[in-house]
Amino acid sequence: MSTQQVSSKEKIQELWAKRPIIVSGPCSAETEEQVLATAQQLAATGKVDMLRAGIWKPRTKPGMFEGIGAKGLPWLQKAKQITGLPTAIEVATAKQVQDALTFDVDVLWIGARTTVNPFSVQEIADALRCRCTGIGKNPINPDLELWAGGVERIARAGIKNLGLIHRGFSSYGNTQYRNAPMWHLAIEMKLKYPELPIFNDPSHICGKRDNLLEVSQKAIDLDYDGLMIESHIDPDNAWSDAKQQVTPARLKEMMEAIIWRKEDVDNKDYHQALEKLRQQINHLDDEMLQILSQRMKIADQIGQYKKDNNITILQPGRWQEIIEKTAARGEKLGLSRDFLNKYLDAVHLESINHQKQVLDA
Ligand code: PEP
Ligand code: MN
Repeated sequence: MSTQQVSSKEKIQELWAKRPIIVSGPCSAETEEQVLATAQQLAATGKVDMLRAGIWKPRTKPGMFEGIGAKGLPWLQKAKQITGLPTAIEVATAKQVQDALTFDVDVLWIGARTTVNPFSVQEIADALRCRCTGIGKNPINPDLELWAGGVERIARAGIKNLGLIHRGFSSYGNTQYRNAPMWHLAIEMKLKYPELPIFNDPSHICGKRDNLLEVSQKAIDLDYDGLMIESHIDPDNAWSDAKQQVTPARLKEMMEAIIWRKEDVDNKDYHQALEKLRQQINHLDDEMLQILSQRMKIADQIGQYKKDNNITILQPGRWQEIIEKTAARGEKLGLSRDFLNKYLDAVHLESINHQKQVLDA
């Protein structure tokens, strides 16, 4: 192993402990000039820790720009030599892993379309064999087990510096986002793998420049460890994902606008005040459980009446009345309609399950 590789590895080890870790660069490497100019402008901002670029691009339809291919790897290597920024690319096959390692790419990530395929993930994991840092993007479909399975495959290949990228989930039809964030899924992954840094990819979540800052701020508020944001010297003329890329100058502005938060502070007053409020929360959570349990006991009694009179469990009219009244009251109490809908659905389902058990008894 060359000294270049050793020092590169040490650098990544150090980077993995840094917070926040900012990764930026073009969606696709297009020309040597574009890669070098983007890298130099990004390095000059002083805000970026790692250079990303797509070399092989998984495109939805044929006939679009499918990436410059291995020809772009020496450009990245040169960009690293000039700026000192470690490099990161997406890989989808064993051959791509080998090519990337030949050109000293530091971090390889598995794209959302690849994470869905355990054969491909395994092929990549086998090709990696301890030689690189790997990050697993979430699969395009909201399947936590598939995401976790992908990460475990890479971990079993002996990769030490692992990470996660949350890039949102595709859905049918037009929504506010290109890929719905479904934050709760990323939070679950963060809780499941607390030792792995989790990056947010606002570019692929938003699909357009407008909301990048808002989504980045939300990620930082939720204690993400890093951001991966696409940038380009001439975003409007980018060969892929033109609408969502920003100039290095705009990236710098965004990094300056974000309110960076700490996970904790060494301040006794803060901790005491927080502890008091947390005790109140624990107390209320306990009361809510008691009340929900009482509610289900009443549902059991209703189930018994329905059974004795041979009546269906589901009474749409009654349920509609509950939704309207409770949601209206809840909204007046400052709860969001979205939360109320989810809460009422969950309570209703649990109530139906209770009554079904009575009916079947
Ligand atoms: C990308 O990062 O350019 C990319 C293709 O991402 P994803 O796998 O999230 O679609
Ligand atoms: Mn992209």
